[in-house]
Amino acid sequence: MTPYPFDAPASQALLERALAVTPGGVNSPVRAFRAVGGTPRFMASGAGPYLTDVDGREYVDLVGSWGPMILGHRHPAVVEAVQAAVADGFSFGTPSENEVRLCEEIVARVEPVEQVRLVSSGTEATMSAIRLARGYTGRSLVVKFAGCYHGHVDSLLAQAGSGVATFALPDSAGVPKEMAAETIVLPYNDLAAVEQAFAAQGAEIAAVITEASPGNMGVVPPAPGFTEGLRRITAAHGALLISDEVMTGFRCSAAGWYGLEGPYDAGAPDLFTFGKVMGGGFPAAAFGGRADVMALLAPVGPVYQAGTLSGNPVATAAGRATLEQCTPALYARLDEAADALTAALRDELGRAGVPHTIQRAGSMFSVFFRDGAVTDYDGARAQHVPAFGAFFHSMLSQGVYLPPSAFESWFVSGAHDDAAVDRVVSAVPAAAAAAAEA
Ligand code: PMP
Repeated sequence: MTPYPFDAPASQALLERALAVTPGGVNSPVRAFRAVGGTPRFMASGAGPYLTDVDGREYVDLVGSWGPMILGHRHPAVVEAVQAAVADGFSFGTPSENEVRLCEEIVARVEPVEQVRLVSSGTEATMSAIRLARGYTGRSLVVKFAGCYHGHVDSLLAQAGSGVATFALPDSAGVPKEMAAETIVLPYNDLAAVEQAFAAQGAEIAAVITEASPGNMGVVPPAPGFTEGLRRITAAHGALLISDEVMTGFRCSAAGWYGLEGPYDAGAPDLFTFGKVMGGGFPAAAFGGRADVMALLAPVGPVYQAGTLSGNPVATAAGRATLEQCTPALYARLDEAADALTAALRDELGRAGVPHTIQRAGSMFSVFFRDGAVTDYDGARAQHVPAFGAFFHSMLSQGVYLPPSAFESWFVSGAHDDAAVDRVVSAVPAAAAAAAEA
């Protein structure tokens, strides 16, 4: 089989124009096909579980805009809410009812979250949560875990997942070493390492930030007791625990990963960050948690944080309409679709003799092209990345759009009906055979 069984002339033409005006031709690095080769597909439209590219080819979408599209593309209830919001105006720079309703919806769903502040991206949410934790504790060090991605916040890019993992970058240039020195990077799922770091520097650590269930090195759920252990250790040392649910929030359950694993005997995380699903495909994200910590934010308290488009009325209308559709029936369907896909992947990769491990967090899943459980970033990196590339291109050529990286989660939506799932399942045998040869 040729590596790129069909060309994509219209995408290629757009890529050439994009390359002239945008670094790498993309506005976010993982969209480029750098890691897998070939022409990134420029998408023209989406409907339900499908994307159509500018060459007119249709794909079953397992990226879902990297998480937000939990209802599939152009869900009628969201279209209606957005059209109604747009008809009333785009942005007022004042408070508006839509943002109150979205905040109420979030607070109602995630029990430990008493107050939230809306922002426009997950990066802003984690950046602001870190500033708030530093303001609250009067300390500056932050603990993060290798392979976790929390957006492109300077101090959080050290050994980050997502694009930083995809392109095998050690860190990012442009981050002052003084700022990098404020971050302690530890191996994921290693409580002993956390205990040690706190024993050495506990009085200077403002917060531990962790992906609630990491999805940016592929899916690597916390070992039983890991999150609880983080809560216990941080509380003992007066540091805050920030659970980054930008990816898992309202995705793994109605209350995100916390809804699956919490409540914890040792207590809840102090702060949470959200994004993706809660914006329904529009730029909306949030951070929130304990009211006494949130009370430190301006205009009430001394920690400054702001945004021209924060709580944008159209984005918040889309987010609220999306969350309203996130019912138990939706989560049951997501699980069913993920069950069917992971079973087919396991069977066919097994039949083709391809070393693999499939890991899940709720309906989020990913395939590691190696044997054995993956519990941390070193384990994720120990997979056979070329097998993923071969698998990816075979799937693409058969009309299935996977994340173009071996280090990302795959997402299903409520629109992934049996027909869409069957299309993916029928593409898997040839892709498994391609992976076996890589
Ligand atoms: N945190 C996590 C866990 C994420 O997955 C992401 C994005 N993939 C972010 C933060 C950053 O969000 P954004 O891309 O909206 O800035």
